[in-house]
Amino acid sequence: MKKIIILGSTGSIGTNALEVVRKSNEKFQVVGLSGHRNHKLLLEQIREFQPKYVSVGTEEGYEIIKREFPNIELYCKDEGLKELALKDDYDILLTAVSGAIGIEATVEGIKKGKRIALANKETMVAAGPYINKLLKENLKAEIVPVDSEHSAIFQSLLGGRREEVRKIIITASGGTFRGKKREELKDVTVEQALKHPNWAMGKKITIDSSTLVNKGLEVIEAHELFGVSYEDIEVLVHPQSIIHSMVEFKDRAVIAQLGAPDMKLPIQYAFTYPEREASSALEPLDFTKVSTLTFEKPDHQTFKGIELAFKAGKIGKTMPAVLNAANEVAVELFLKGKIKFLTIYEIIEKAMERHIPLEIDGVEIIKKVDSETREWVYLNYE
Ligand code: NDP
Ligand code: MG
Repeated sequence: MKKIIILGSTGSIGTNALEVVRKSNEKFQVVGLSGHRNHKLLLEQIREFQPKYVSVGTEEGYEIIKREFPNIELYCKDEGLKELALKDDYDILLTAVSGAIGIEATVEGIKKGKRIALANKETMVAAGPYINKLLKENLKAEIVPVDSEHSAIFQSLLGGRREEVRKIIITASGGTFRGKKREELKDVTVEQALKHPNWAMGKKITIDSSTLVNKGLEVIEAHELFGVSYEDIEVLVHPQSIIHSMVEFKDRAVIAQLGAPDMKLPIQYAFTYPEREASSALEPLDFTKVSTLTFEKPDHQTFKGIELAFKAGKIGKTMPAVLNAANEVAVELFLKGKIKFLTIYEIIEKAMERHIPLEIDGVEIIKKVDSETREWVYLNYE
């Protein structure tokens, strides 16, 4: 039985992961859970899964959980995520919190030599070079991606050798506003932006999908995870979200992974790799219902998210951390109704323009750049 800690268990990925565990015939055991504000759901999860370790984001949640479970090892606020990752008696750390807050726990999990099932793409974007350095120093540790595109690339890469890869093709649904022009996006509402055509996800990533910043983050994530240069990464809009991404090899063979748009498969694969397991949690793909798969180029004039990410990624150093931090705050302000949709791009662009990229020599520099960028955005746009 594999022992699993789930950071962000109350979120979209977290609840899907618990469903995978539920249907696994006791192949997996949950030893740690973390939630932030939703202590009600966290309590239900504790009752059902009986973890040894729990972290919650609020003091109110802490008191309530402590009262019902006085014997649980309970932690509170940001430190809690790290405390859980520092435990010895687990095999897999699923980082499914949203945002750069996931960096430190991921770092500790790697130092412990654990498998990281990585959903939290912001970690790889902001801290990729540092995470890769740590992976080289801690050879027992490994990252198995959960992001569906990266899981697909990870699986497709098994079809050849790394040096035989010609390029990586990341597919994109195109988001809620696919086909719309800049003019039409000026006054879109939060409700409109939150309607994703194919995937049910947390709010932050759903907005990122509608700006295509999510795809941009995924380009940087792919570069960091697979060591493929930016020139060899292509984004292709594929509205049906059936092909989750592809790898083209030197001989022009393209290997892809297909499946129903459901995060439970990449989550379970990150738990079972290199094995595959049957599960009643997983639905088969019905090709007769899919019938057509279509592809088109992204509209970079309207959706600047991909090009901004290529730019930040090619500059490298701390620039992707700035792109990520600026975007996180911009999305928060958009969700609160404080800025317009297109201002998200403006914030990222301006934050990048004013930043002088620094070498990443540890987690401190990333935290510093991250918080300076956030402060600047709040000061100028809140
Ligand atoms: P959700 O918003 O649904 O969930 C986020 C989780 O993180 C919740 O458990 C939330 O707790 C917790 N959380 C939020 N803020 C903090 C904080 N400051 N400190 C500690 N915990 C916090 O997000 P998703 O599940 O959609 O996404 C999680 C990650 O996975 C993101 O990085 C996303 O990019 C990535 N991802 C998600 C996909 C999806 O299909 N959803 C697909 C691919 C990647 P609470 O709710 O209790 O406040
Ligand atoms: Mg994805």
